Amino acid sequence: MSNRAYNFNAGPAALPLEVLQQAQEQFVDFNGAGMSIMEMSHRSAAYEQVHNEAQALLRELFAIPDNYRVLFLQGGASTQFGMLPMNLLTAGRAAAYAISGNWANKAVKEAKLIGETIVAASSEGDGYRRTPALTDIIVPEHAAYVHITSNETIEGTQYQAFPDTGSVPLVADMSSDILSRPVDVSKFGVIYAGAQKNLGPSGVTLVIIREDLAAESPKSLPSMLRYDTHIKNNSLYNTPPSFAIYMVNLMLKWIRSSGGVDAIAQANQAKTALVYDTIDNSGGFYTGFALPVSRSRMNITFRIHNEELEKLFVKESEQQGFVGLKGHRDVGGLRASTYNAVPLESCQALAQFMADFQRRNG
Ligand code: PMP
Repeated sequence: MSNRAYNFNAGPAALPLEVLQQAQEQFVDFNGAGMSIMEMSHRSAAYEQVHNEAQALLRELFAIPDNYRVLFLQGGASTQFGMLPMNLLTAGRAAAYAISGNWANKAVKEAKLIGETIVAASSEGDGYRRTPALTDIIVPEHAAYVHITSNETIEGTQYQAFPDTGSVPLVADMSSDILSRPVDVSKFGVIYAGAQKNLGPSGVTLVIIREDLAAESPKSLPSMLRYDTHIKNNSLYNTPPSFAIYMVNLMLKWIRSSGGVDAIAQANQAKTALVYDTIDNSGGFYTGFALPVSRSRMNITFRIHNEELEKLFVKESEQQGFVGLKGHRDVGGLRASTYNAVPLESCQALAQFMADFQRRNG
């Protein structure tokens, strides 16, 4: 379809055209039911099949071990910033946070409302141009957990490997890189992610939790904020965001038919290499914001030496069908978000546009 934009939005973000078309085909009449999936009871067999299939696909694609549960919650990753410590940061303990940028700061801010926190490491001294070095991450023996932000969406940094936290559970906010690369889930206690970047539309939040960690939540917590409520009820304690989960299911099928997470990771590598190479070969016209050791395969942040040129870059890119290239106001400059569903062709077009822009303005 020729009228699709080169969509580099940071989230909600591009979805595969095939997924949108499939949803379109089933929109009015889901599998002959005479109604859309949105109009069905969440207790119906047809909906439950979609719900369970999405969970099973996640288990398969992300190789989630049997002692973990897959939950579909609401309230975004931002709700997990508070729900996590409410459940795991029990009396007399502290939670350790590795501070890598904007989103890690938001996570620790919420945890502080619930209990004691410790800074396990911080890359603030490097202007958040990298993630903290793994060797710098302190793991206090009695910590309730160590929290990392696996990909910082605004700064464009990503952990290339994860810290070994021994018997202390490692928790990761993977909102902006879930299913973009293979991960050894058994190294984590909890993984959470809003769906709207790599998994589907907004409205559903994925939580992958090691079953035993949900056992110690304080009795005073309201039902909806307890992980064990959602575990016991297979994420059907109340009405789930059924349409968003249906879209996630279609997206997961697309990932599987694209060759699974290994193939997606290779594609992401190839896509981002085109843009990073353009930056690195520009003789200083473009400069990357993230240091090469921590460059993200999801959010490419870069600058042009002159702010007026950055504005012109955004304006001209929009005229040529590119969307979402203006950087976040906290970092400035430019950002291209290249999540799973962004096609190689969009990155090829961007690399070409960048080279042309430099030729005209360099
Ligand atoms: N964590 C990260 C890394 C994010 O990128 C975002 C959203 N941009 C959030 C958390 C917040 O997610 P939500 O909007 O789903 O609450």
